[in-house]
Amino acid sequence: MNSSDEELSKRQAIIDHCLKMNSTGLNQGTSGNISIRHKDGLLISPSSRPYASLKPEDIMFLEMDGTAHGPWAPSSEWRFHRDIMASRSETNAIVHAHPNYCTTLAIMGREIPAIHYMIAIFGGPTIRCGPYAIYGSEELSKHALAAMEDRKACLLAHHGMIAAGANIEQAFWLAEELETLAKQYHGCLQLGDPPLLSDQQIADVIEKFKGYGMTETEQE
Ligand code: 13P
Ligand code: ZN
Repeated sequence: MNSSDEELSKRQAIIDHCLKMNSTGLNQGTSGNISIRHKDGLLISPSSRPYASLKPEDIMFLEMDGTAHGPWAPSSEWRFHRDIMASRSETNAIVHAHPNYCTTLAIMGREIPAIHYMIAIFGGPTIRCGPYAIYGSEELSKHALAAMEDRKACLLAHHGMIAAGANIEQAFWLAEELETLAKQYHGCLQLGDPPLLSDQQIADVIEKFKGYGMTETEQE
């Protein structure tokens, strides 16, 4: 693929996954945003533009210093997209959304514990919930980065979730798996205090997952 074809396919992938996150019920309206690493910066969805109206040229290119190129304002959450990409070399795509079960837990300030072995795909026995800060702020980005330490996802209090993957397919898969975990945890909480897997049991799953399907995707 030449470099302009590659850029076009990343721009289209952002649009396709923005549409998919709404059509699958993971998100709604113009909430959420998606980025893909590109050259020395990132391509990112524009702020507040309805996904159904997006064309490849509406996707913004952002330099790592925050300079934006394109017809609109970049997503208001460009800071955490930029900061996660800058500090995590293995991350090439980020999905931020407001899915109902993740957001329900995030409103309650709950982290997700090791209720199911699939939590291992996120890198450890918990999904942390970062404290509240207003959307689009540097403070929110700091909270997100801390909550994602050694993890591929986090919840954001009174807001939603973030998933970071090696490519857009993996980031989207992680977002869907996180919402599934959140739904399962929410269900468990209706019945009582769920029993948890131990840190060792999760470490064993992390080891066993090496080379397993979507967990090991490395290309951009
Ligand atoms: P943008 O439309 O600016 O991407 O914002 C949506 C959002 O989810 C803010 O947290
Ligand atoms: Zn948001």
